[in-house]
Amino acid sequence: MLIDSYERTVDYLRVSVTERCNFRCQYCMPEKPFSWVPKENLLSFEELFEFMKVAIDEGITKIRITGGEPLLREDLDKFIKMIYDYKPSIDLAMTSNAFLLKGAAQKLKDAGLKRINVSIDSLKPEVAKQVAQKDVLSNVLAGVNEALVVGLKVKVNMVPMKGINDNEILDLLEYCKERDMTIRFIEYMENVHAAVDIKGMKSKELLSLIGEKYTITDEGFDSHSPSHYYRLDNGYRFGIIEPYEDDFCKTCNRIRLTAEGQLIPCLYFDEAMSIKDSIKKGDIKGAAAVLKEVVRTKPEKNRWGGDDAESSSRAFYETGG
Ligand code: SAM
Ligand code: SF4
Repeated sequence: MLIDSYERTVDYLRVSVTERCNFRCQYCMPEKPFSWVPKENLLSFEELFEFMKVAIDEGITKIRITGGEPLLREDLDKFIKMIYDYKPSIDLAMTSNAFLLKGAAQKLKDAGLKRINVSIDSLKPEVAKQVAQKDVLSNVLAGVNEALVVGLKVKVNMVPMKGINDNEILDLLEYCKERDMTIRFIEYMENVHAAVDIKGMKSKELLSLIGEKYTITDEGFDSHSPSHYYRLDNGYRFGIIEPYEDDFCKTCNRIRLTAEGQLIPCLYFDEAMSIKDSIKKGDIKGAAAVLKEVVRTKPEKNRWGGDDAESSSRAFYETGG
């Protein structure tokens, strides 16, 4: 079992399989980075899988594939199947912008993927285009429908932004409710890579807006979910991810691996340790030692909230969010 210095059990690994993306979301990667990581610097799926085995053997029970856009990486279903075959009981999920999901959903499900979180920031083609800087909406919605048809459990992530999509919060909530999908509103997390003029919305503002139509009951946190859950008077349950709140990090159970093999203890901070050399040398003990050290050095909390609040210099497309 992996336990950090604050007695938190770490059992969740997020794996970014590529930093590349086919969207240019304003809050994440508004411009193409000066250079991409060269392909030869990425760990192959076989190498990543060697580390997945180490992590699972040490106590990881949940793995989420993310990016950049994970569906840009070829043979992703084969990587998922490797993990599934090693331990079928692993909670295997993915986060995607869904642009390429329509043609991939069945293969991913057959490979062992159980759940998918899809990012939808608007149901209006022009607004979705403004956020992603590309005409994306019809592909995204087709991808979501396909995921539901093949039987994947789907959650939706939305980043509400003032003056952009703040008038669509109820529309997205209804869209998800009608399809039996949970929506999670993510408070915009300030970072130096985002467009400078983004103004996010805080939990209180979202609740006040939704509260104009519904009575809301606070249901608190599900054991280790980063999401604070609320229920409407019609029974529908939705989440808000509130990284600025003081208790956000108290139950944090996750670490992150980049496509280059950097193991990251916290989404906010720049610190990381590489598992690349150990994995390339087949040094399983070495990789396990890095994993334990990263867990040991997990910071108590991020610095988005509080008096000394600051933007993060970490790129979301690198860490996988
Ligand atoms: N490309 C995939 C996608 O967009 O779903 C996976 C990677 S993306 C980095 C993972 C999640 O991070 C998405 O739900 C996205 O909305 C969220 N995200 C990215 N930048 C963010 C920011 N600055 N604040 C809050 N959420 C952010
Ligand atoms: Fe790409 Fe996801 Fe970042 Fe948007 S949020 S730019 S889809 S990685």
